[in-house]
Order: sequence, then C-alpha cells, then structure tokens
Amino acid sequence: MNPTLLHIDNVHKTFAGLHALSDVNLDIREGETHAIIGPNGAGKSTLLNVCVGVIAPTKGKVLFDGQQLTGRRPFEINQLGVARVFQTPEIFGDLTVIENVMMAMLSHRDGAFRLRLLSRFDERGQVGRRAAKALADLGLGDHLHHLAGALSRGDKRRLELVMSLAQDPKMLLLDEPTAGMARADTNTTIDILRDIKRKTGITIVIIEHDMHVVFSLADRITVLAGGRVIAQGVPEEIKGNPKVIEAYLGE
Ligand code: ADP
Ligand code: MG
Repeated sequence: MNPTLLHIDNVHKTFAGLHALSDVNLDIREGETHAIIGPNGAGKSTLLNVCVGVIAPTKGKVLFDGQQLTGRRPFEINQLGVARVFQTPEIFGDLTVIENVMMAMLSHRDGAFRLRLLSRFDERGQVGRRAAKALADLGLGDHLHHLAGALSRGDKRRLELVMSLAQDPKMLLLDEPTAGMARADTNTTIDILRDIKRKTGITIVIIEHDMHVVFSLADRITVLAGGRVIAQGVPEEIKGNPKVIEAYLGE
C-alpha cells in the first residue's frame, strides 16, 4: 500500500449552524486516483475548499506530505504542490496557448508582474521549452501559437490541465471537471486524465457526479452524504453498496 499523501483528520465545517462537514477522516495515498462522490449538498466542494485553503475548517486539520495545511493561504498550499483545477477554464483567451502555459509556470507571482516577466521570456528559453514539451505531451503540440480563446472546448480543457500541471504539483484536485459537458467531451476528459496519470503518476482527487467518469478513473472511492463519509472502498465495493444507493435516492 502506498504511503499517505493527504491526510484529512477529523474535519468539521459549519456554516451558520449548518453542518456541511462532520467528522471527516480521509487518507489519499500517493499515486492513486481517488474519487469523492455523493449527492448534491453532500459537502464535496466544501471538503476540497478546506484542502486548498479557501475555507478554514471549524475543527480538525489537513496534512499534506507531512506538512500542516490548515491555516495556510491558498497560494502557499499551491506552492507546496497542491494544484486545483477549476470548473470554468481560467485561461487567457487573448494570449497564445504557449503563453498561457508560460504564465502558469510563473503563477506564484501576481498577474501584472507575470505579464512583465513574460514579455522578457523567450519561447526558445528554458520556460518556453518546458511549456512546449508539456503541451506536446498532452496533444497540443500543433496549437502552440494559436490564440487560446480559439481552441475547441476539449482543447481548452487540455490546456487548463497542462497549466495546472505546469507547476509540477504532487497532487491534482478536480471539482466536477465534466459538469455540463456533452458525452464526447466527457470521454475526452477521461482520456486526458488517464494520459496524465500514466505519464506523471500524479495523485489525483476528483469530485465527480458522473458515475461513468468515476468508474473509468478511480482506484478508490469515498462517498459523502450529509457531510459525513458513509462509505469508502474500491469501485467494486461501492457499486452495489446499499448505503450508497440509498444516499442517491431522491436525487
Ligand atoms: P456538494 O459540493 O457536495 O454539492 P457543498 O460542499 O457545495 O456540497 O455544500 C455542502 C452544504 O454546505 C450545502 O448544504 C451547501 O448549501 C452548504 N454551503 C456550502 N458553501 C456554503 C457557504 N459558503 N455558506 C453557507 N452554506 C454553504
Ligand atoms: Mg460541489
């Protein structure tokens, strides 16, 4: 069994009396793809926001790679190697594809500073070469100098993932990456994530509503309902679990 990379220890979160998370304990192991599923309002996004420092837990703590995350700000957590992929692509449509990735590689600086720095970067320099390779690795090698805004939806998703990976994170967190996608784009996303996993061995935590995606990607699954962990296991253990089926009834 691989060692624990992310340790969520007894996390509680209340919003004005509402128990969004209660006594959540969860270990994410190095190199696994771990899906967090559960009905709407289960607390999935809140849990992810606690992990990336956007929300402070009411109680409990989160450790990453042996370091305490609780109390740190999102950019500090990002610098420790935790990358988060947002639901809506945060790309700069007026910049080229490779410029977007170069920006992401410098993303520990603020936007204006990055733009100034970027103008001094040569695409044939070290940052540019790394960006070009990362793009080629995920199938965007033909689009380096196209405007990011002109990419297809699927390619924007690819670009966004290259940008998240540009900082060489140890863990990638995704909140419903296929929400609102047509089946074809969803399948593309599955392929891209599989590709990333194969090429980088990175640890992935994915919140996902679409069971097709979950069962295509997850090594292990944690089920949240009403802010509590109600089940955990490999996909086969979760599929027929009566508690899980019950939690989804009425959805
Ligand atoms: P999920 O992502 O599983 O759908 P969320 O984590 O978004 O669930 O929400 C869990 C519960 O916490 C819900 O009842 C939601 O309404 C509530 N909640 C989430 N964020 C806030 C907030 N900022 N303020 C108040 N209540 C919130
Ligand atoms: Mg959510």
